[in-house]
Amino acid sequence: MRILLVEDEPSAALMMAKGLREQTYAVDVAPDGDAALYQAGVNDYDLIILDIMLPGRDGFEVCRELRAAGRTLPVLMLTARDRIDDRVHGLDTGADDYLTKPFDFRELLAHIRALLRRGRDLKPDLLRVGDLEIDARAHRARRGGRDLALTAKEYALLEYLARRAGEIVGRADIAEHVWDDNFDPFSNLIEVYVQRLRRKIDDGHARKLLHTRRGAGYMLSVEGGAAND
Ligand code: CA
Repeated sequence: MRILLVEDEPSAALMMAKGLREQTYAVDVAPDGDAALYQAGVNDYDLIILDIMLPGRDGFEVCRELRAAGRTLPVLMLTARDRIDDRVHGLDTGADDYLTKPFDFRELLAHIRALLRRGRDLKPDLLRVGDLEIDARAHRARRGGRDLALTAKEYALLEYLARRAGEIVGRADIAEHVWDDNFDPFSNLIEVYVQRLRRKIDDGHARKLLHTRRGAGYMLSVEGGAAND
């Protein structure tokens, strides 16, 4: 899941981005409203965390413009004080939820999970593909009842593929939702991570779950042991 964090205060932005990355989210940071609108225009984010007080265009304007442009992604607004006016205004401009600063980081995570669940098609916290189980709340995965030791990035890739289980997922989609702006599209990083993930989930199991479709992408599925797996 890829998040755009819009926050002009460098130390707060840095701290939140670091914490979110540790939770396996891919995070881009925008320091003002213009940068936020630009980045949201070129990338397909799963969620935006939007501070209200920003230099130039504020969070309200950014949210209004996103909605005016037809963007439906979840927006979590950050308000400096618990001002009812700010909350009402925020929700009126199309924000889905708000959080009052200062907040506990765990509270931020809970709001993010709730919004991601609510988004698009009510995403469940527990995903299953055959005997592979992914706990999206704890960010843990197990197969055949055994815990898998995954790095944060391996887990993020697995969760993304699991949310689209049975579908062929292309490289561009993976790059867009699992990596951030620092991803080099010419690198073979995705292939490397898929290989590592495959070793961890499929080695020692007769039934393979992670399949490659040459030229098309990857698919997590109990079926489809065809051709080039
Ligand atoms: Ca601010």
